[in-house]
Amino acid sequence: MKGKKRDYREDLMDEAVDRSEGSFSKGTRVLTNLPEGYEFVKLQKGNNLLDIIPFEIKSSNYPKKDKGRIAYHLFINVHRFVGPGEQHNFVCLTQYGKKCPVCEFLQANKSKLSEDEAKKLKPKQRVYYNVIVLTDNIKNKKISLLESSYFEFESKLKEEFQYKLNENNGIVPFSDPEEGLSVMVRGSERVFLGRTSIEPKKFDFVERKNQHSENIIDEAVSFDEFLNVLSYEEMFSLFHGVGEIEDVEEEDDDSEEEVKQAADHPEERKRREKTRSSIASIECPEGHVFGKDYDNYTACEECKKWKSCMEKFETSFNNDEEEDEDDEE
Ligand SMILES: [Zn+2]
Repeated sequence: MKGKKRDYREDLMDEAVDRSEGSFSKGTRVLTNLPEGYEFVKLQKGNNLLDIIPFEIKSSNYPKKDKGRIAYHLFINVHRFVGPGEQHNFVCLTQYGKKCPVCEFLQANKSKLSEDEAKKLKPKQRVYYNVIVLTDNIKNKKISLLESSYFEFESKLKEEFQYKLNENNGIVPFSDPEEGLSVMVRGSERVFLGRTSIEPKKFDFVERKNQHSENIIDEAVSFDEFLNVLSYEEMFSLFHGVGEIEDVEEEDDDSEEEVKQAADHPEERKRREKTRSSIASIECPEGHVFGKDYDNYTACEECKKWKSCMEKFETSFNNDEEEDEDDEE
């Protein structure tokens, strides 16, 4: 609960200081060189009617999804606003089975960092969509781009879709260009630090007035092509604000034992193992999967086991054992 609130604040802060992908201009960005003519949109207060347009994956940058497949969103783990001046946004490299300088730092310094500091460095789950905004007062009917957090947008969208799916087996994928459904999102106002922002509150699916042609997929931005995936060395230098890599081991072995830095004293290892085994036996009070369904449900916000669930989630995440929880449609 405590931690959850902080996550929430962080998102709000990003928005209040206008650091969204669309307007953020210095430091490292998640997406670079996007094609001209595509603008990021924000949700409006009240009803937002959107058609989500799928895109073709055109590179090997989309973690765990193959080139040539069609996806309706990009789901990506990002270290947000880290490094000197908190100006860098890095695509987390562990998603590609590689070592990530920020995750390494986080692991190595876990005992020294405050909960806040650790939370800030931890990768955040972000989602990106191609959308056509159909809300009445917006005339623009071309494809725009929408960025949100997985927790605030995609998990709620998915939950509603799953509900509809259980209710009616005949339902089609909502993002199908020719037979899909429009998505109605209610934007609710919230105020933080005197600034107002819009929170996606309620999701529903409604019949489309007009369908699209299959060709619209070619007009959608293939986000993966524009993902700014840095090398370990580039990210290390930017994150630590140094010109060169310091003494870090070069071998490319698996992530389990990769962090052999200051934190890997026998005492520290013992402590970690103890924590690991003590959280291994916890069950989710809501009947979901402890350490896997972390932050996926509304009940997570109030959960007393939230912190240990996060720790287990992170451990498995950093060991790259998480399953592909994110199937399309
Ligand atoms: Zn990382």
